Amino acid sequence: MNTDLKTYIERYTELELDLRKLIGRLSGTLCGECTRCCCDIIHCKEAIKSPFLKLIHRQADRFDDREGFLSATGCTLEQGRPSVCYEYFCDDHFYHQPDDLHAEILKILGALLLHATRNAQGNTALEDIKTEEELDQLDFLRLGKQLEESVLAIGIIRAFCRDGTLPEPALKTLRQIQIEE
Ligand code: SF4
Ligand code: SF4
Repeated sequence: MNTDLKTYIERYTELELDLRKLIGRLSGTLCGECTRCCCDIIHCKEAIKSPFLKLIHRQADRFDDREGFLSATGCTLEQGRPSVCYEYFCDDHFYHQPDDLHAEILKILGALLLHATRNAQGNTALEDIKTEEELDQLDFLRLGKQLEESVLAIGIIRAFCRDGTLPEPALKTLRQIQIEE
């Protein structure tokens, strides 16, 4: 693994852990009481097919053929989950948002990992790159910039959740994060 990839992985892991913490705080009550599980083994499989995600979680041996990474207490992957696992919020989450701005911010929050990894090779995101050799060839200068945009965005969202304020320039920064519709 080259130094640029190693540095990117360390920073990405910090972002993912911050994201998991913030999403847990914002959606924990609703998801904690929910009896429908929206995890799907199809997504768990992405985490063992992706060389990039495997370098992050290093837990491919914990994959179970029936349950994937899902256990009685939730996902066993501390890090290296596919970005879709953070992107999805069911309609209940949007129903409980106080206004459209909060709903938009929630969508942006869910899009931050994908933003950091988008277009790593053509239209292909980092987690969909097929081999470790290909990972080593990527332009981590650009990917690092995208990653720092996501880091900046999570800081803005954290402040918004804490203070309820969102100055116009900060909102403009957040709106540079592309949301998949
Ligand atoms: S996202 Fe919705 S369906 Fe999934 S666990 Fe949370 S509340 Fe339940
Ligand atoms: S959160 Fe974990 S258990 Fe759920 S789909 Fe994603 S990888 Fe699988």
